[in-house]
Amino acid sequence: MRTAICPGSFDPITLGHLNIIRRAAAIFDRVVVCVTINSEKTSPMFTNEEKIEMVRRAVAKYPNVSVDSCGMLLADFVRKFENPVLIKGLRAASDFDYEFQMDLVNKRINPCLETMFLTADRKYTFLSSSIVRELARYGADLKGLVPDELIGFIEEKARMRRT
Ligand code: ADP
Repeated sequence: MRTAICPGSFDPITLGHLNIIRRAAAIFDRVVVCVTINSEKTSPMFTNEEKIEMVRRAVAKYPNVSVDSCGMLLADFVRKFENPVLIKGLRAASDFDYEFQMDLVNKRINPCLETMFLTADRKYTFLSSSIVRELARYGADLKGLVPDELIGFIEEKARMRRT
């Protein structure tokens, strides 16, 4: 059995992330979405618990997808899974530059760990968590950007932060 690991900060999960997760779930026996915590990214909008819960709700309909979180080096974290492969989405050349470097770093720590890349669906190449946070901050419509079932929660969180 091969396990695809889809890591990210998911602050919040977007339809771009979900598109990659869904496609990975169609290729691999099992997918683990890994919410990375304590990453370099400062001032997240959502707590770790909220990010995990949002991912959980978004992937609930996929039977071979589960959610975990990782507060250590990803290359070490994945050792607990059977035949792990990292899956990353590529939106643009800038993603590639960063991910190429990450792969080299990961291989220094865990030489057997491979990373596979799925190109972003063209509907979502512009989409990032930071775009969603910015739009939410100004009360813009989030339909088509994040899973429908999370829109109310994200809007409410943004509203609370404004007041
Ligand atoms: P972001 O870059 O949106 O802050 P993350 O750090 O959570 O998101 O990214 C996790 C992974 O998801 C990375 O591999 C990233 O390239 C991928 N990803 C993010 N947004 C998209 C998208 N719109 N389409 C495809 N892949 C994406």
